[in-house]
Amino acid sequence: MPMQMDQLVALCKRRGFLFQSSEIYGGLNGFWDYGPMGVELKRNVREAWWRDMVTAHNEQAVRPGAPSTYEMTGLDCTIIMHPQVWKVSGHYDLFHDFLVDCREEKRRYRHDQVFGRWVEGRGQRFFVATETLGDEGQEEMQHRALKFLGLRAKDAGELKWDGPVVCLTTIKDHSQVLAPDAKKLGTLTEPREFNLMFETHTGAVADESSKTFLRPETAQGIFVNFKNVLDSTRVKIPFGIAQIGKSFRNEITPRNFTFRSREFEQMEIEFFCRPETSADWYAYWRDRRFAWYLDLGLARDRLRLRDHDPDELSHYSTGTADIEYAFPFMAPGEFGELEGVAHRGDFDLRSHMEGKLDPKSRPLAVENDEHGQPRYRGSGRDLSYFDAETKERFIPHVIEPSAGADRATLAFLCEAYREDEVPDENGKLTKRTLMAFHPRLAPYKAAVFPLVRKDGMPEVAQEIYAALKPRLNVFYDEKSAVGRRYRRQDEIGTPYCITVDGQTLEDGTVTVRDRDTLRQWRIHKNECAAEIERLVSGNE
Ligand code: ATP
Repeated sequence: MPMQMDQLVALCKRRGFLFQSSEIYGGLNGFWDYGPMGVELKRNVREAWWRDMVTAHNEQAVRPGAPSTYEMTGLDCTIIMHPQVWKVSGHYDLFHDFLVDCREEKRRYRHDQVFGRWVEGRGQRFFVATETLGDEGQEEMQHRALKFLGLRAKDAGELKWDGPVVCLTTIKDHSQVLAPDAKKLGTLTEPREFNLMFETHTGAVADESSKTFLRPETAQGIFVNFKNVLDSTRVKIPFGIAQIGKSFRNEITPRNFTFRSREFEQMEIEFFCRPETSADWYAYWRDRRFAWYLDLGLARDRLRLRDHDPDELSHYSTGTADIEYAFPFMAPGEFGELEGVAHRGDFDLRSHMEGKLDPKSRPLAVENDEHGQPRYRGSGRDLSYFDAETKERFIPHVIEPSAGADRATLAFLCEAYREDEVPDENGKLTKRTLMAFHPRLAPYKAAVFPLVRKDGMPEVAQEIYAALKPRLNVFYDEKSAVGRRYRRQDEIGTPYCITVDGQTLEDGTVTVRDRDTLRQWRIHKNECAAEIERLVSGNE
């Protein structure tokens, strides 16, 4: 049976992966806290990304599929930046969604996330709207259409559905629309623009001149520091700059656990290359990033790489592909974006190069002319690249793999969740829940147990724990029956358990138990650290 999302949500709370932010005050919609297990899991996701993309990258070697060797380096930029950055990037003017309000239910919807179907019954034709897709959505629409007409379930045959499910954006007149929670027709307002950037003020005076924004993406910090990185390191094109950090979007309808949050973390790379090689680098990064998710355990049949249709592309992009995952909360056949890999051309560097900042303008204000257009475009700084070998100056093209740390963590949580039946100490089959994380991502790499709390077993187990602790995140537990301790570790995804038993006291060996296969084998207690490190790194 496929995993139900509420089972995962319950496990996340019970075992300390995720809590609703400010829960004791009723929570804050779109904000999530990572608990003791969640913080380790998400750190491991970030660290796997940083290590695989940046620190463990060998700049001398050509990687499979890469057009040439390349360098990688990192940055950590501020969340609040000069507001002109967002003017130039286009976020100030264009980063909006359309929303519609329901006057009856006082609810707000993202225009493009409401769907529905036309239906006729009892001489009336109207559009039943829902936010749910698939069979569940159809059931909900039927239920509400019947209720609206004062009919009962057995009268469903009286309803005549007209055409397929379509998005609300295709309905020009809302007067015959039954909004998702409404009882009357025509309660939705006309769609209007809503900028997703969170505003704040910098300094003591809160007025237009001190207005600043929480960054909606980490990428711009990389572009505006492009020259600093060139001048302070010896990187040569092609090279990439990576950054991990918080981003903020005032999403109209945050939902699906952490999938769409208002505060989230991104893992982004801006990869700079010669224009004529950019198509090859784009292909390389698409494939490389796709393979990264597979390597860390996402199932091939739940992952897909989807090229954007030409009409989905931003005007400056010659190619964008989304890496998508079939999250369990999506309708069958639907996928949710994990990462976007975009060919951005030279749009960003060129935009930040244009124009000139007026030294007399107020330092923080975003400048518009009388037509509402930006008065000064970019910084006026030269952000071109000089190739010392070919003696050419050019503006590099950019490939941007932009991933979400929280969405990746959520995908790994969904993928890991499973239930099976295993024999207990008396051989009776009992149900267990396990989180089959890739060992690199698991919060604890191993747990160490004495079989019983006597005969010197705790002392030996503590010795092993002390030897492992400086090298690996491990857990010590001597409370309750050993079977229950195993189950606890299975539920938080600990891949290996080391148990000290009677035989340990005789010959110094301990058992190692594998979470997924339940296989047990004996090794000498002094080999625990090396064995677990070997298993976790996958060098079996
Ligand atoms: P969506 O279409 O789902 O809103 P997007 O296309 O706007 O996403 P990008 O701007 O490409 O997303 O951001 C890059 C990545 O950042 C996404 O692939 C996703 O992993 C993550 N991300 C974006 N918005 C959110 C959010 N509200 N909550 C969690 N992660 C997000």
